[in-house]
Amino acid sequence: MKRKELEMALQRVRPFRSPSAPLEQYATPATIAADMLFLAYSLGDIQDKVVVDLGCGTGMLSIAAAMLGAEKVTGVDVDLVAVEQARSNAVELGVDVDFLAGDVRSYEGRADTVVMNPPFGAQTRRADRPFLEKAVEVAPCTYSLHLTETEEFVLRLISSVGASGAIQKRYKFEIPHTFAFHKKTKRDVDVILVRIQRQR
Ligand code: SAH
Repeated sequence: MKRKELEMALQRVRPFRSPSAPLEQYATPATIAADMLFLAYSLGDIQDKVVVDLGCGTGMLSIAAAMLGAEKVTGVDVDLVAVEQARSNAVELGVDVDFLAGDVRSYEGRADTVVMNPPFGAQTRRADRPFLEKAVEVAPCTYSLHLTETEEFVLRLISSVGASGAIQKRYKFEIPHTFAFHKKTKRDVDVILVRIQRQR
């Protein structure tokens, strides 16, 4: 499958119906999800691999991994409504993904690769911390999106848990006007895609 075909398919993934601000529910745009997962695929981290999506929302990254030939994909999210939407998105797109409702902190599965777009920590400071810690526990390799302005914190945290992080890509991430406290109709935030490798 070509990157452009993947992107077109992912346009059909339905986003959050009523996004929660404290949970920082910003769905990854299809363009970014396709680029991110295609990169992971090119580096040999998706095809025939066991993949986990932490904070899967309505399933964008999980579905992308399944479309690129992952052996098994599991998505975990604390919001049951999002999980239900993710399940129906997977059916709609004809892929098999196991979506679980629960807090990532209590997830105990193991995988080859984690993909995630965790809360950026814009509402709750350092909200991405438990995600980074869990990702390194779950898999030897992780692809994760973070706010560029938190780059230093993120890289430091990654080394503190015995892993190394390398920035692979930079994107403009469009956040739609979903929350009352956003004044403009939409705004772009700068994000980094980090590839994390466990050292132990
Ligand atoms: N990965 C999705 C959604 C990103 S938004 C996408 O790329 O489109 C971040 C997601 O993390 C939200 O769906 C939110 O419900 C979830 N989340 C926030 N805190 C969580 C926690 N502690 N455990 C599990 N999921 C959590």
